[in-house]
Amino acid sequence: MQIPALAIDGPAGSGKSTVAQAAAARLRFTYIDTGAMYRALAWKALRLKIDLTDEAALTALTQKTTWQFVDNGATLMLDGENVSAAIRAPEVTNRTKFAARAAGVRAHLVALQRQMAAERPAVMEGRDITTVVLPAARWRIFLTAAPEVRARRRQEDWARRGFGGVGGDYDEILRDILARDESDFSIGPLKDALDLAQAGKIILLDTSAMSPAAVIDRVIAIVE
Ligand code: C5P
Repeated sequence: MQIPALAIDGPAGSGKSTVAQAAAARLRFTYIDTGAMYRALAWKALRLKIDLTDEAALTALTQKTTWQFVDNGATLMLDGENVSAAIRAPEVTNRTKFAARAAGVRAHLVALQRQMAAERPAVMEGRDITTVVLPAARWRIFLTAAPEVRARRRQEDWARRGFGGVGGDYDEILRDILARDESDFSIGPLKDALDLAQAGKIILLDTSAMSPAAVIDRVIAIVE
């Protein structure tokens, strides 16, 4: 049975967040940014000085953590604290892969994400939404763009958020995007999602030459 949800997967900088957030507002669906949940756990582990390579410690940490989205998904409260800005810092971005690699962390977050989608129709974005979290979502999209385009977008995003001085160099960001691709695609679900998209089983949307507004219109048209 299909569930009334829009699942969007794609690599870093593919425009998922912008598109998913706008689509959720227009469709009046709940917006759920699953990347923020992994980022927040990494942020908490860094703050508590937990060894990020210690999977058992990270998994144990999930049991003592609560994630709550407010402001239509724009704000993430971690254990009641607003971490939305802190989790975008480059040092958190670069270390989130440790949280993402831990099987116990993934199992816990996948269960939470399924619960969230069961409560209300959702637009959920991430790396494993179309394949693992909500394979029965009525609409499934793989959003992508050329690495160079994604790096430029990430640079603009960081400048807007005031992180321009920290790793705001284009070449460095491109290297970082390629490294995150390698890490994200090696975990499995994102590669599976790309395979499904290339096989025509889910919708493949390459946004390299599209404006954000055009992508949002396409996504809304797919749902409606
Ligand atoms: O989407 P965002 O770039 O904020 O995600 C940060 C990181 O969290 C990704 O690079 C990936 O390692 C991890 N992630 C994941 N599964 C998801 C969402 C994000 O492993 N569903």
